[in-house]
Amino acid sequence: MKKSLAALAAAAALAAPAFAADEPVLNLYSARHYQTDEALYNNFTKATGIKINRIEAGDEQLVERLKNEGTASPADVLLIVDAARLWQAQQLGLFAPVKSKVLEDTIPVKYRDPAGNWFGFSYRARVIVYNKAMVKPGDVATYESLADPKNKGKVCTRSGSHPYNLSLIGTQIAHQGEAKAEAWAKGVVANMARAPKGGDTDQIKAVAAGECGVALANSYYYARLLRSAQPADKEIVAKTAVIFPDQATYGTHVNISGAGMLKSAPHPDNARKFLEYLASPEAQRYFADGNNEWPVSVSVKISNPALDAMGEFKIDPLPIASYGKYTAEAQKIADRVNWR
Ligand code: FE
Repeated sequence: MKKSLAALAAAAALAAPAFAADEPVLNLYSARHYQTDEALYNNFTKATGIKINRIEAGDEQLVERLKNEGTASPADVLLIVDAARLWQAQQLGLFAPVKSKVLEDTIPVKYRDPAGNWFGFSYRARVIVYNKAMVKPGDVATYESLADPKNKGKVCTRSGSHPYNLSLIGTQIAHQGEAKAEAWAKGVVANMARAPKGGDTDQIKAVAAGECGVALANSYYYARLLRSAQPADKEIVAKTAVIFPDQATYGTHVNISGAGMLKSAPHPDNARKFLEYLASPEAQRYFADGNNEWPVSVSVKISNPALDAMGEFKIDPLPIASYGKYTAEAQKIADRVNWR
């Protein structure tokens, strides 16, 4: 089922003229790579008889590939992470809107594009992780505190140009305006313990090692460590703690894993069925739990020991679909303050 990019390209070249809208096939381009997704796709095939051909690659590679393939693309659905990237794909005109009562009834409007270009299926929070021996939780309870001079020399983050941080800078623009958002980003950079490098897990590790006192990370990276049986991971967890920022004000910044139907989808009916399947209670559980995220469907509850341990939190109510419009300005801010 899983094929390499090259293998699929070859298959597509051979099969392209024969695409029929009614063949029981769904071609999925996915940036997710979790074992539990395997069961998710098998269950869809069992329930519908539709076979899933899956290509896995990074978000950027998949979007680039779709741009190059144009209308000849075999892809029906693009499944990626982060609203800024979904918005980018939307701006490139890759998606065709899907009208579906099932999707509209199940997915709160704040987690999808109101026009139906893409839908969020799980959400994650951008949390603060701190070293318990180095930092008092009250000193790092907000995103704002990361720019406070009292935390000088303590902050670690990945590049400000990464979509996770661009979306966060974007919400700062939405809440406080460009000038204050830039002052905040500048303060974060001034407080850095080291130049940005690596991904979110690298920041968490640096916090545990005492290289920094506090870091930004997506919730699932911390949850993954919480669930790990590896002694090294247990040690990281023992030395650190997690905070949902801005609980007294805007609420914590969240983002999504989401998917949309492609404009050139050879099997649009199957694409819609697949998206609706992802909103079903069973799929919601697999999809969210598989990456230690929360399901978007309010009627679905998952039992995940790491997420249960992290507890409930107040979510920033900004619609996810509004993040994209701040991305360009957020990138300019990241460049101007040298958050590289
Ligand atoms: Fe990630």
